[in-house]
Amino acid sequence: MSNFRKLDDLNDVAGKVVLVRVDLNLPMQDGHVTDTTRVKASAPTILELADKGAKVLLLAHFGRPKGQRHSTMSLSLVQGAVEEVLKREIMFIPEVAGPVAAQAIGILRDGDIGLMENTRFWPGEEKNDPEFAAAIAANADAFVNDAFSAAHRAHATTEGLARILPAYAGRAMQSELEALDKALGAPEKPVAAVVGGAKVSTKLAVLKHLVGQVDHLIIGGGMANTFLAARGVDVGKSLCEHDLTGTAEDILDAADKAGCTVHLPYDVAVAKEFAANPPSLRICNVHEVAVDEMILDVGPQAVEALGDVLKTCRTLVWNGPMGAFETEPFDAATVALARTAAALTKEGSLVSVAGGGDTVAALNHAGVADDFTYISTAGGAFLEWMEGRELPGVAALTV
Ligand code: ADP
Ligand code: MG
Repeated sequence: MSNFRKLDDLNDVAGKVVLVRVDLNLPMQDGHVTDTTRVKASAPTILELADKGAKVLLLAHFGRPKGQRHSTMSLSLVQGAVEEVLKREIMFIPEVAGPVAAQAIGILRDGDIGLMENTRFWPGEEKNDPEFAAAIAANADAFVNDAFSAAHRAHATTEGLARILPAYAGRAMQSELEALDKALGAPEKPVAAVVGGAKVSTKLAVLKHLVGQVDHLIIGGGMANTFLAARGVDVGKSLCEHDLTGTAEDILDAADKAGCTVHLPYDVAVAKEFAANPPSLRICNVHEVAVDEMILDVGPQAVEALGDVLKTCRTLVWNGPMGAFETEPFDAATVALARTAAALTKEGSLVSVAGGGDTVAALNHAGVADDFTYISTAGGAFLEWMEGRELPGVAALTV
């Protein structure tokens, strides 16, 4: 992964047509874009190419139209939002290939930007049909992929095009790959991983991979309950996948063999009802959870000990909150541990990389998102990377 082509390898783009795969799957409400983070991420790549005189053609998917045109999923709906971020006018092209696209591209001057229609309007996109990719490539000279978030899918515009045209990672893709490489590819040791979230079942592959990669595996969130149950702890009414306690035991054994220390909470925040600041809230040892109580967060003593673990580490990779952080005070462990990680990162003793939809929300809630070394907003692709899988969109850029 470490050797991939970058924009620095793409020379003399003036006058050339460059396809740029970006993430424009923007959240919408009542026909309006509510968040432009994804556009901002790729703006440097788009503007760099345009300013070098390339004719830039943006390619992206939007929603799940399943191979058919749907006016509600036309990328023309986000054109205004993209223009606002780029502070440039762009041309909308209602095709991705064929004579209409060719004619529109012919009109573009050097440095102009075109936005092509939702790639998933054509079945060839998700099928990674080489003919579909070739039809898109026919109008272009080079392909730049700046959408790490779509790199776990082998689709025509995430993988296929890179097989046909000279292909390069955009700036956002480059930063993401470099950060991820620092965290798990060639990390400074010792390495800690924090894995939390609701369920073990959604992160089995992550846990199995990490035990062979990291020195400390910190398990929190609902999934810790399954591990505690595997160790014979009665977790009461807690969210727990009892059918997976055997699998949890296997993971603990594998960690043992690999020399990975697994940290499970030994004190927890529990309550009888799941509500904000419930009257039944108490902190107790994991062995003292009553049958009618739920574990909703890691306890303060465990968090302090985990902070001490992070102080001995040089690298941290984090996915999944430590508790039900959306509901106070069950955000306490996540917030405290995140702040410790952020402080260590600021001091320069820790490289910290985090990702996952709820994890990003939790780190924002803790007010530390800017202090981590890198935060990935790519949900599925980030998790597949944490599973140690090769992402097809990235593999296609490798030299
Ligand atoms: P991510 O999106 O970052 O990968 P997940 O989706 O796996 O994270 O998990 C996040 C969810 O896990 C949150 O909604 C959080 O409330 C929930 N969660 C964490 N700890 C617990 C717990 N002890 N009991 C119930 N739910 C929990
Ligand atoms: Mg989630």
